[in-house]
Amino acid sequence: MTKKDIIQLLEKIATYMELKGENTFKVSAYRKAAQSLEIDERPLDDIEDVTELKGIGKGVGEVINEYRQSGTSTTLDALQQEVPEGLIPLLKIQGLGSKKIAKLYKELNIDGKEALQIACEQGKVSELSGFAKKTEQNILEAVKALGAKKEKYPIDQMRGLNGKINDYLANVENIDKYEVAGSYRRYKEMSKDLDYIVSTDSPHAVQQALLKMPNIVKEVAVGQTKVSLELAYDDETIGVDFRLIEPSAFYHTLQHFTGSKDHNIRIRQLAKEQDEKVSEYGIEQNNGKMIQYQSEQAIYEHFGVHWIEPALREDGSEFDKDLSQIIQLSDIQGDMHMHTTYSDGAFSIEDMVKANIAKGYQFMVITDHSQSLKVANGLSVERLLRQNEEIKALNKKYKEIDIYSGIEMDILPDGQLDYDDEVLEQLDYVIAAIHQSFNQSQEEIMRRLEHACRNPYVRHIAHPTGRIIGKRPGYEPDIDRLCQLAEETHTILEINANPKRLDLNAETVKKYPNIQLAINTDAHHIDHLEFMKYGVATAQKGFVTKDRVVNTMSREEFKSLIENNIKLKK
Ligand SMILES: [Zn+2]
Ligand SMILES: [Zn+2]
Repeated sequence: MTKKDIIQLLEKIATYMELKGENTFKVSAYRKAAQSLEIDERPLDDIEDVTELKGIGKGVGEVINEYRQSGTSTTLDALQQEVPEGLIPLLKIQGLGSKKIAKLYKELNIDGKEALQIACEQGKVSELSGFAKKTEQNILEAVKALGAKKEKYPIDQMRGLNGKINDYLANVENIDKYEVAGSYRRYKEMSKDLDYIVSTDSPHAVQQALLKMPNIVKEVAVGQTKVSLELAYDDETIGVDFRLIEPSAFYHTLQHFTGSKDHNIRIRQLAKEQDEKVSEYGIEQNNGKMIQYQSEQAIYEHFGVHWIEPALREDGSEFDKDLSQIIQLSDIQGDMHMHTTYSDGAFSIEDMVKANIAKGYQFMVITDHSQSLKVANGLSVERLLRQNEEIKALNKKYKEIDIYSGIEMDILPDGQLDYDDEVLEQLDYVIAAIHQSFNQSQEEIMRRLEHACRNPYVRHIAHPTGRIIGKRPGYEPDIDRLCQLAEETHTILEINANPKRLDLNAETVKKYPNIQLAINTDAHHIDHLEFMKYGVATAQKGFVTKDRVVNTMSREEFKSLIENNIKLKK
């Protein structure tokens, strides 16, 4: 259990209380407690008595202690009994916070989306004070869209559902092998559905087990070779297909249904040249004999090509390129952007160090948030310098890895940077990023980015567009100009590997082959270090070669990059 788990519990309790219509004083006690925990620099294990923290009283303290000891909360359980479950998804509707939902529940007895839709259609919502006719119309549209099947879903959402399905498949008897295929396996930013290839000698038994999966909304088609379902996940309805195949054909089916369409057209052409035919079952020779290989590698080698990473299987041009220098996950030697309990991370610096060592990394950079980012408990100069000392001490203690002190510094709305050069000078590595005033004009945004790029201590711009896939477009900089600037000023641009972001995207890094890149997880939790594969896949889609990526450097090379700031020499 980390502080983040407790903060989440407290915020959940506050939300439920609001939905129940509790008085604001009680609700804010929970929110304040969550904030105090966030602001405290220590990891949870170092805090013996939470009530010693400013802002945590005896009552909330008891709730926290119970949760720390048992992992459950009777307070939350009781609230969940009282507050209708159907109100929770309504929180996703824009402009409808918990207070408004509480009002709808209290005055119109609305307990979920059906009731809300009917009330909007009957015009009852706009009769309440605080709800205009226009608001009612917006709510009606939003409630109709809620949980309806969409065209496509963002990769991070699919990642969550994929995790759940993998856990389920791991416990189904009679399955020989299973793997996700389709566009999700190719790391597409958005996918229509999830496809699984499942090999078995007992398709009927597996089919029956699949139909017992939790959260099935609809059985779309149920056959001996294919089961198509719609599953409820994260207040959405998402299509999932399972293809049941005999074990000997597994890799052929996997290759076939991974696609892309154009990629497979090239495979079929290669087969035709050898007077063969490919299908999801194998490679058919002209004498009618079927070859079935037991790895994807072998299938590609049969056609005289090296195995191609799924992320690279796109328009077919991947067959014509030299892919030998394209970056691989195993090339990554360090992670250069991560957070600790000093700002809004869940783990101490030392915990992060151990996790990076466990990944086999040669170097790492600690980059917490800077002072202006108050919501994330950004570091004052004094705290930053104290952290710098702590990092130096840990660097002596852990010989396995080089630990560098950095910062993810805000580029302020007026273009100023969040610390003076005299402060930045004392750090090993400075990242600059935009976290506020996204609504400025492109000109203003570019002035901010340019100012950061031209600062001699700023080595790198994090998540350069600020987008969240499928949720918000970001602040939309002039990408041409930014890439020119980066090249001109020797500023590294980031591929933020968090699957919510993937920023820069594949298209941009492909279009600008001269910009230097860093692929970083921006980890706020030790588990987030695993996001690296999403960033590498994004780089692969952009045909990024290993030599363009700073964190493929050896320990010595990276050390020299830190010690010889090229921007200071100009
Ligand atoms: Zn950031
Ligand atoms: Zn960050």
